[in-house]
Amino acid sequence: MSATPEPLRVALALAAAGVPVLPLRGKVPFGNCRSCKDGACGGRPNMKAAGPCLCPAPCHAWAAATTDAHALTSPVWAPVWREAVAVAYHPGGAGLTVVDLDNAAAVAWARETLPATRTVPTTRGEHWLYRGAMASSNAVRPGVDIKSLTQYARWLGAGTGGMAVLPAAVRAMVVKEETTPAPGEVASSLPARATWDRSVATGCRHTERYVRTGLERGLALVRARTESGAGSQAFGVARFLAAQHTGCPGPCGLAVLGDAIVAVAVSVGVPETYARRAVANGLEAAVERAA
Ligand SMILES: [Zn+2]
Ligand SMILES: [Zn+2]
Ligand SMILES: [Zn+2]
Repeated sequence: MSATPEPLRVALALAAAGVPVLPLRGKVPFGNCRSCKDGACGGRPNMKAAGPCLCPAPCHAWAAATTDAHALTSPVWAPVWREAVAVAYHPGGAGLTVVDLDNAAAVAWARETLPATRTVPTTRGEHWLYRGAMASSNAVRPGVDIKSLTQYARWLGAGTGGMAVLPAAVRAMVVKEETTPAPGEVASSLPARATWDRSVATGCRHTERYVRTGLERGLALVRARTESGAGSQAFGVARFLAAQHTGCPGPCGLAVLGDAIVAVAVSVGVPETYARRAVANGLEAAVERAA
C-alpha cells in the first residue's frame, strides 16, 4: 500500500466538507483524456454548452470537480493524483465566490471597497471568499478576477476571518457600466423588439400571462433606473426571468425576453453592446445556477 498523496488527502477532506475538488499539475488542471481531447466528447453535462460526456477521468478542468470520494479515489484518478502538485476547487459548486486579488494594489482596493470576509493569502495577493455564487469574469478591474461558476480556484488553505455574504458590489462588477452615451445618441439606436408568444416558446410550461406579467415587471424595474444602474438591473431581471424557466423542457423564447430587456435598457441610456452583454450574462447565470 502506498501512502495517500498529500493533494489527494487535502482533496478528500474538502470533498467531505461539500467542496467539489480537482487535481492541479502546477497551476493548471490536467489535460483531457484522448476521447475528450478538443471537445470530441461534446463536453460535460454541467458545462455552459451541455454535452453528454460521462468520462470517469478528471477531464474538462472545473467541470470534473467533484465531492464524490469514490470518483476521487478511483483507479482512473489515481495516476493523476500521484503527479498532482496542488488541489483546486470549484467555488460556484460550493456556493462560493472568490474575488482573486492578484497584487498589493488590488488588495488595497478591496480593503477600501468591499465588506470584510474570509481571506486567503496567495503568492502576490489574496483570495477573498464570499458566500453565494455568481457568473465568473476575469479582469473586472486591474488585478481582480471573479471566480465562481464555471471556474476553478487554487486551494491555498482555509484562510482567516468569517465569511460574509456575497455583496451586491461584487455582483455588479461583472456587469459594470463602462461608458455613458452621448446625449441624443440613444433614440436612434433602439434595437427592434420581437414579441414573446407561443410560437417562440413551444416548450414552455408557463401560461402566456405568467410570462408577460413577469417580463413587464422586470422591464419596469429597468425603466425606473434612469440615473444609473440600468445595466446591472438588466442583468438581474434577465437572470430572474430565465430562472423561472429552468424547469421547462424548452424552448421558452428566452432570447425574445432578453431582446425586450436590452431594448428597455438602451432606452434609458445603456449602450447597446453593454446591455446585450449584461442580459446574456444574466440569462446564463440562471442556467448555470440550475445546473
Ligand atoms: Zn475524458
Ligand atoms: Zn469529455
Ligand atoms: Zn418556460
